[in-house]
Amino acid sequence: MLQLPPELVLHVFSHVDVISTFAFLDTCRAHRQLLLGIPEIWRTIVFDPSLDASVSDIYAVLRRFRSSNGLEELITCVVMDGMDQHFLSLIVMLVKFKKLRILSARDLRNSLNIEADTKVLRELLNCGTIEAKSLALRQLYIYHDYLTDRQNIRPLINVLGLVAKHSVQLDVRECGAPTTYGHLCRHLIRCLPSLPQCTCMAYFDRCHRCEPYCKVCGHTRQPPFVKPKNIGGLLGSDRWRLNLDQVGQTLSQEDEVAKEVEDAFRLFEE
Ligand SMILES: [Zn+2]
Ligand SMILES: [Zn+2]
Ligand SMILES: [Zn+2]
Repeated sequence: MLQLPPELVLHVFSHVDVISTFAFLDTCRAHRQLLLGIPEIWRTIVFDPSLDASVSDIYAVLRRFRSSNGLEELITCVVMDGMDQHFLSLIVMLVKFKKLRILSARDLRNSLNIEADTKVLRELLNCGTIEAKSLALRQLYIYHDYLTDRQNIRPLINVLGLVAKHSVQLDVRECGAPTTYGHLCRHLIRCLPSLPQCTCMAYFDRCHRCEPYCKVCGHTRQPPFVKPKNIGGLLGSDRWRLNLDQVGQTLSQEDEVAKEVEDAFRLFEE
């Protein structure tokens, strides 16, 4: 492993979740130096729901990212898609990782509570734990297939506007189709990253109520939680890899981070 070029090590660890990365790091001093010598490994951390890690395992790993060791500020992207049984709040990530640009917390049907998270963000802002316009966050992914009716994302968008330096892109938006009652439809639909939603690989602009048939193939549309079989693969175990590819594209444009990160990393050298 030590003889491998850093790009290859980086590539290998871009497929490894954060708990396994630390397990490898802890095996010996050489592995430790290897991983800590490549800051890029730490830019994106992934929690893998298939590992069934306990809440205490997860928090043990989170505690290893500290500002004193330089690791905390390396993180620019956290992927916690599908960590639904862990009640791992996305707020924890926002508060802990000040340089976080992308937070992907998708498929948290049970544990995501937009209203509660919005309230907590507001309180953290009011009590000064999060300063106004301080977060580096640019993209927040919260979509799950049941997030369609009766969810109001406007208060979340408002509070994100107060805590984040730049405007934050969400992966859900209101449908926006004019209704017969003269207002715009407020059902939520997924918008980022957009995946084909029909078996004919068509994308939809409106919710399944406003656009009940696929314009391309004429198929009757189902609610999003009813998955057509042949595109189901996109949402299986490749989920976070897919996500990381997109994230990689975004992050490679962010070169100024690399410089900051290098400086922060010196703290690690004994
Ligand atoms: Zn690969
Ligand atoms: Zn609609
Ligand atoms: Zn279609």
